[in-house]
Amino acid sequence: TQSQRALNFGAGPGMLPVEVLEQAQKELLNFKGTGKSIMELSHRGKEFETVLEDAKNDLRTLLTIPKEYDILFLQGGASSLFAGIPMNLCKDENDVVDYIVTGSWSKSAFQEGKLYCKANKVVDMEPQKFHTVLPAQEWKFSEHPAYIQYCDNETIHGIEFPGDDITSVLSSKGVPIVCDMSSNFLSRSVDISRYDLVFAGAQKNAGISGITIVIIKNTLLSKTKSNVPSVFNFSKKSQMNSLDNTPPTFNIYVTGLILKWIIKQGGIKEMERRNKIKADTLYSFIDNSNGFYTCKIDPKYRSKMNVVFRIKDNPELEDKFAKEAEKHNITDIKGHRSVGGLRASLYNAVTIDATNQLVSFMDKFMKENQ
Ligand code: PLP
Repeated sequence: TQSQRALNFGAGPGMLPVEVLEQAQKELLNFKGTGKSIMELSHRGKEFETVLEDAKNDLRTLLTIPKEYDILFLQGGASSLFAGIPMNLCKDENDVVDYIVTGSWSKSAFQEGKLYCKANKVVDMEPQKFHTVLPAQEWKFSEHPAYIQYCDNETIHGIEFPGDDITSVLSSKGVPIVCDMSSNFLSRSVDISRYDLVFAGAQKNAGISGITIVIIKNTLLSKTKSNVPSVFNFSKKSQMNSLDNTPPTFNIYVTGLILKWIIKQGGIKEMERRNKIKADTLYSFIDNSNGFYTCKIDPKYRSKMNVVFRIKDNPELEDKFAKEAEKHNITDIKGHRSVGGLRASLYNAVTIDATNQLVSFMDKFMKENQ
């Protein structure tokens, strides 16, 4: 099966481990001898209860999530939380929320947040085309924000905060820290205790689209507003173990398989090790291509998950690259439609070998098109 698989560098839904797909394929017809498909299990039944508990426990183990945090599985995608978070955490629409805007996704969160709060941009990197991040000393926090929100990895612009260090600056404000980790969740070790709420759409490293994972500190849960519709209500979801209504059962199951796959591979540290090798390989090839390939992102903030690059700023050459790449089984390499260029997403399921194959193709293309 592996040999028939496309080398999929798509940004999401992205590549999944083949072992996970094979197991899902098997259990699609008969889940552990029940005679029922995984998709036919009742969300109130014993079998699904185990699937859900395993997923929660495995996630807790993998990220060493402290017991003071709960894990929620929600629907509506990560975008739903752009509204869902201020709905839950702001007293009313006069509450101020501080947003750090470093790319399209944090900009969307800011815009959507305006429906439910007074959204304040602490820093806006759009004038610098989202290629870098200004030093934190220049950021303008508001006096008493309800919380501060940022996006750890900007999937479209390929810009990522290095590690958890940014939380040191934010925690000095003494308000909750909310982080969108959709596209680098499970790609690096993370100290959850530095955050109050971490959320991630699953369709990059943690499963398939249709499910959003929320890790939330209990002290924050206890402060959520009560007049929030049940499907968006964090404390109701927590009290009901994400089972107040029918959850996306198949999606939770796939997330569970991915978590077990990561554990089998050696855990988060191993993912981090591989991801660093993959990103270093690709960026160093780009930087050493004598300007044929360019990555304009400040090296300090280059994403290990989404490598954005250009070929001589020439869209025709980039189209040709993407078309020829397909002939080499390399797919989904074009940049987001809003920014153009090229983008290679190096999620956990993309192997070091696949990255090396991409680099070999890039080398060949460069020699033929110089
Ligand atoms: N946040 C980030 C960082 C993303 O990359 C995405 C989607 O790619 C989203 C939010 C929105 O996710 P969804 O499409 O699940 O709403």
